[in-house]
Amino acid sequence: MSPKAPKTSLSPSADKAPHLPIFVILELRSTLLEWYSQSGRDLPWRNTRDPYAIWISEIMLQQTQVKTVIPYFERWMQQFPTVEALAAADLQTVLKAWEGLGYYARARNLHRAAHEIVTQHNSVFPQALDQVLALPGIGRTTAGGILSAAFNQPVAILDGNVKRVLARLIALNVSPNRALAALWQWSEAILAPAPSSETSQSDSRDFNQAFMDLGATICTPKNPSCLLCPWQRHCQAYNLGIQSVLPMSETRAPLPHKIIGVAVIWNDQNQILIDRRKPEGLLGGLWEFPGGKVEPGETIEICIEREIAEELGIEIEVGDRLTVVDHTYSHFRVTLNVHHCRHLSGDPQPIECDEIRWVKVNELDHYPFPKANIHIIEALKNLPSRTLP
Ligand code: SF4
Repeated sequence: MSPKAPKTSLSPSADKAPHLPIFVILELRSTLLEWYSQSGRDLPWRNTRDPYAIWISEIMLQQTQVKTVIPYFERWMQQFPTVEALAAADLQTVLKAWEGLGYYARARNLHRAAHEIVTQHNSVFPQALDQVLALPGIGRTTAGGILSAAFNQPVAILDGNVKRVLARLIALNVSPNRALAALWQWSEAILAPAPSSETSQSDSRDFNQAFMDLGATICTPKNPSCLLCPWQRHCQAYNLGIQSVLPMSETRAPLPHKIIGVAVIWNDQNQILIDRRKPEGLLGGLWEFPGGKVEPGETIEICIEREIAEELGIEIEVGDRLTVVDHTYSHFRVTLNVHHCRHLSGDPQPIECDEIRWVKVNELDHYPFPKANIHIIEALKNLPSRTLP
């Protein structure tokens, strides 16, 4: 049987404020900073104080691992080296640069925020917390990450790594998401324990980066390396031997599963019909192959015929299956059943999308597509020689 997190004097409920003695907090700070000076990661956005570059990295790192972000960040900084360059780019170019990173609202918000910085802040990234929080796509943790890394301000963070480390440090007896207010207070208290203390707040930049690195490299979700941890001495989970069962997890319902019929519609010039989604919502502004959800009692073929008539106002003949793609989004998963189709009659109309185009297979790379559709493009490129269905 797995051990359960017991109630201890340091096991706060969701509304309890930190109550570690100041000398313990000061020791946590100094041991973490010392560890960071030896073992911190060398990441491209840590070699700059440019708030624009740091902002880009913070947004990319939301929901995405460091090793995935690095090449995207480097390409992005070449393509859009300044906030003015990002604001001047058109949204399609920005979405294309983001292609494959997922959570595309992040790219749309970056573009909107760049416009606001140029027009409302004279192209200078704001330094006041309320102004940073007012920018699209920036929440409290991202604001703390930017303001501490770029301007060394003592603004706390609470990303997934920090939540996990704190939950173990204090042996939190509920899931972190049920104790957010308390965890924010802990993060703030350890970052900036006392304004008058000898501990200068001039190390806010390193402290927040160190906190994230501790979670990413030592206090990992599985098998934390407690023997290498600078916080082992004060860690309640380690002292109680319960680090493997913390943080407490939320119980999650299984993700809904949607079966989708997708059409690769060919015309007589060997071109394919693609459409651009409306700008709002999931995957807004991206291009895709048309299709939709299979209704109860429908076959894939009937679903595709119906969806194409409703979405584009044309008649098609559904042919062979090209491929099947499974993809998981944050709140649901999809199975795309992709079929070759032949255009029979009617002029395609953008009834449920913003724009439609006929394109050759070798032109598909010019358009930003969601990740699940990239598999369809690969399947099209790998066709030995196309025969219309
Ligand atoms: S001692 Fe182990 S559980 Fe505690 S903070 Fe360090 S790595 Fe995490």
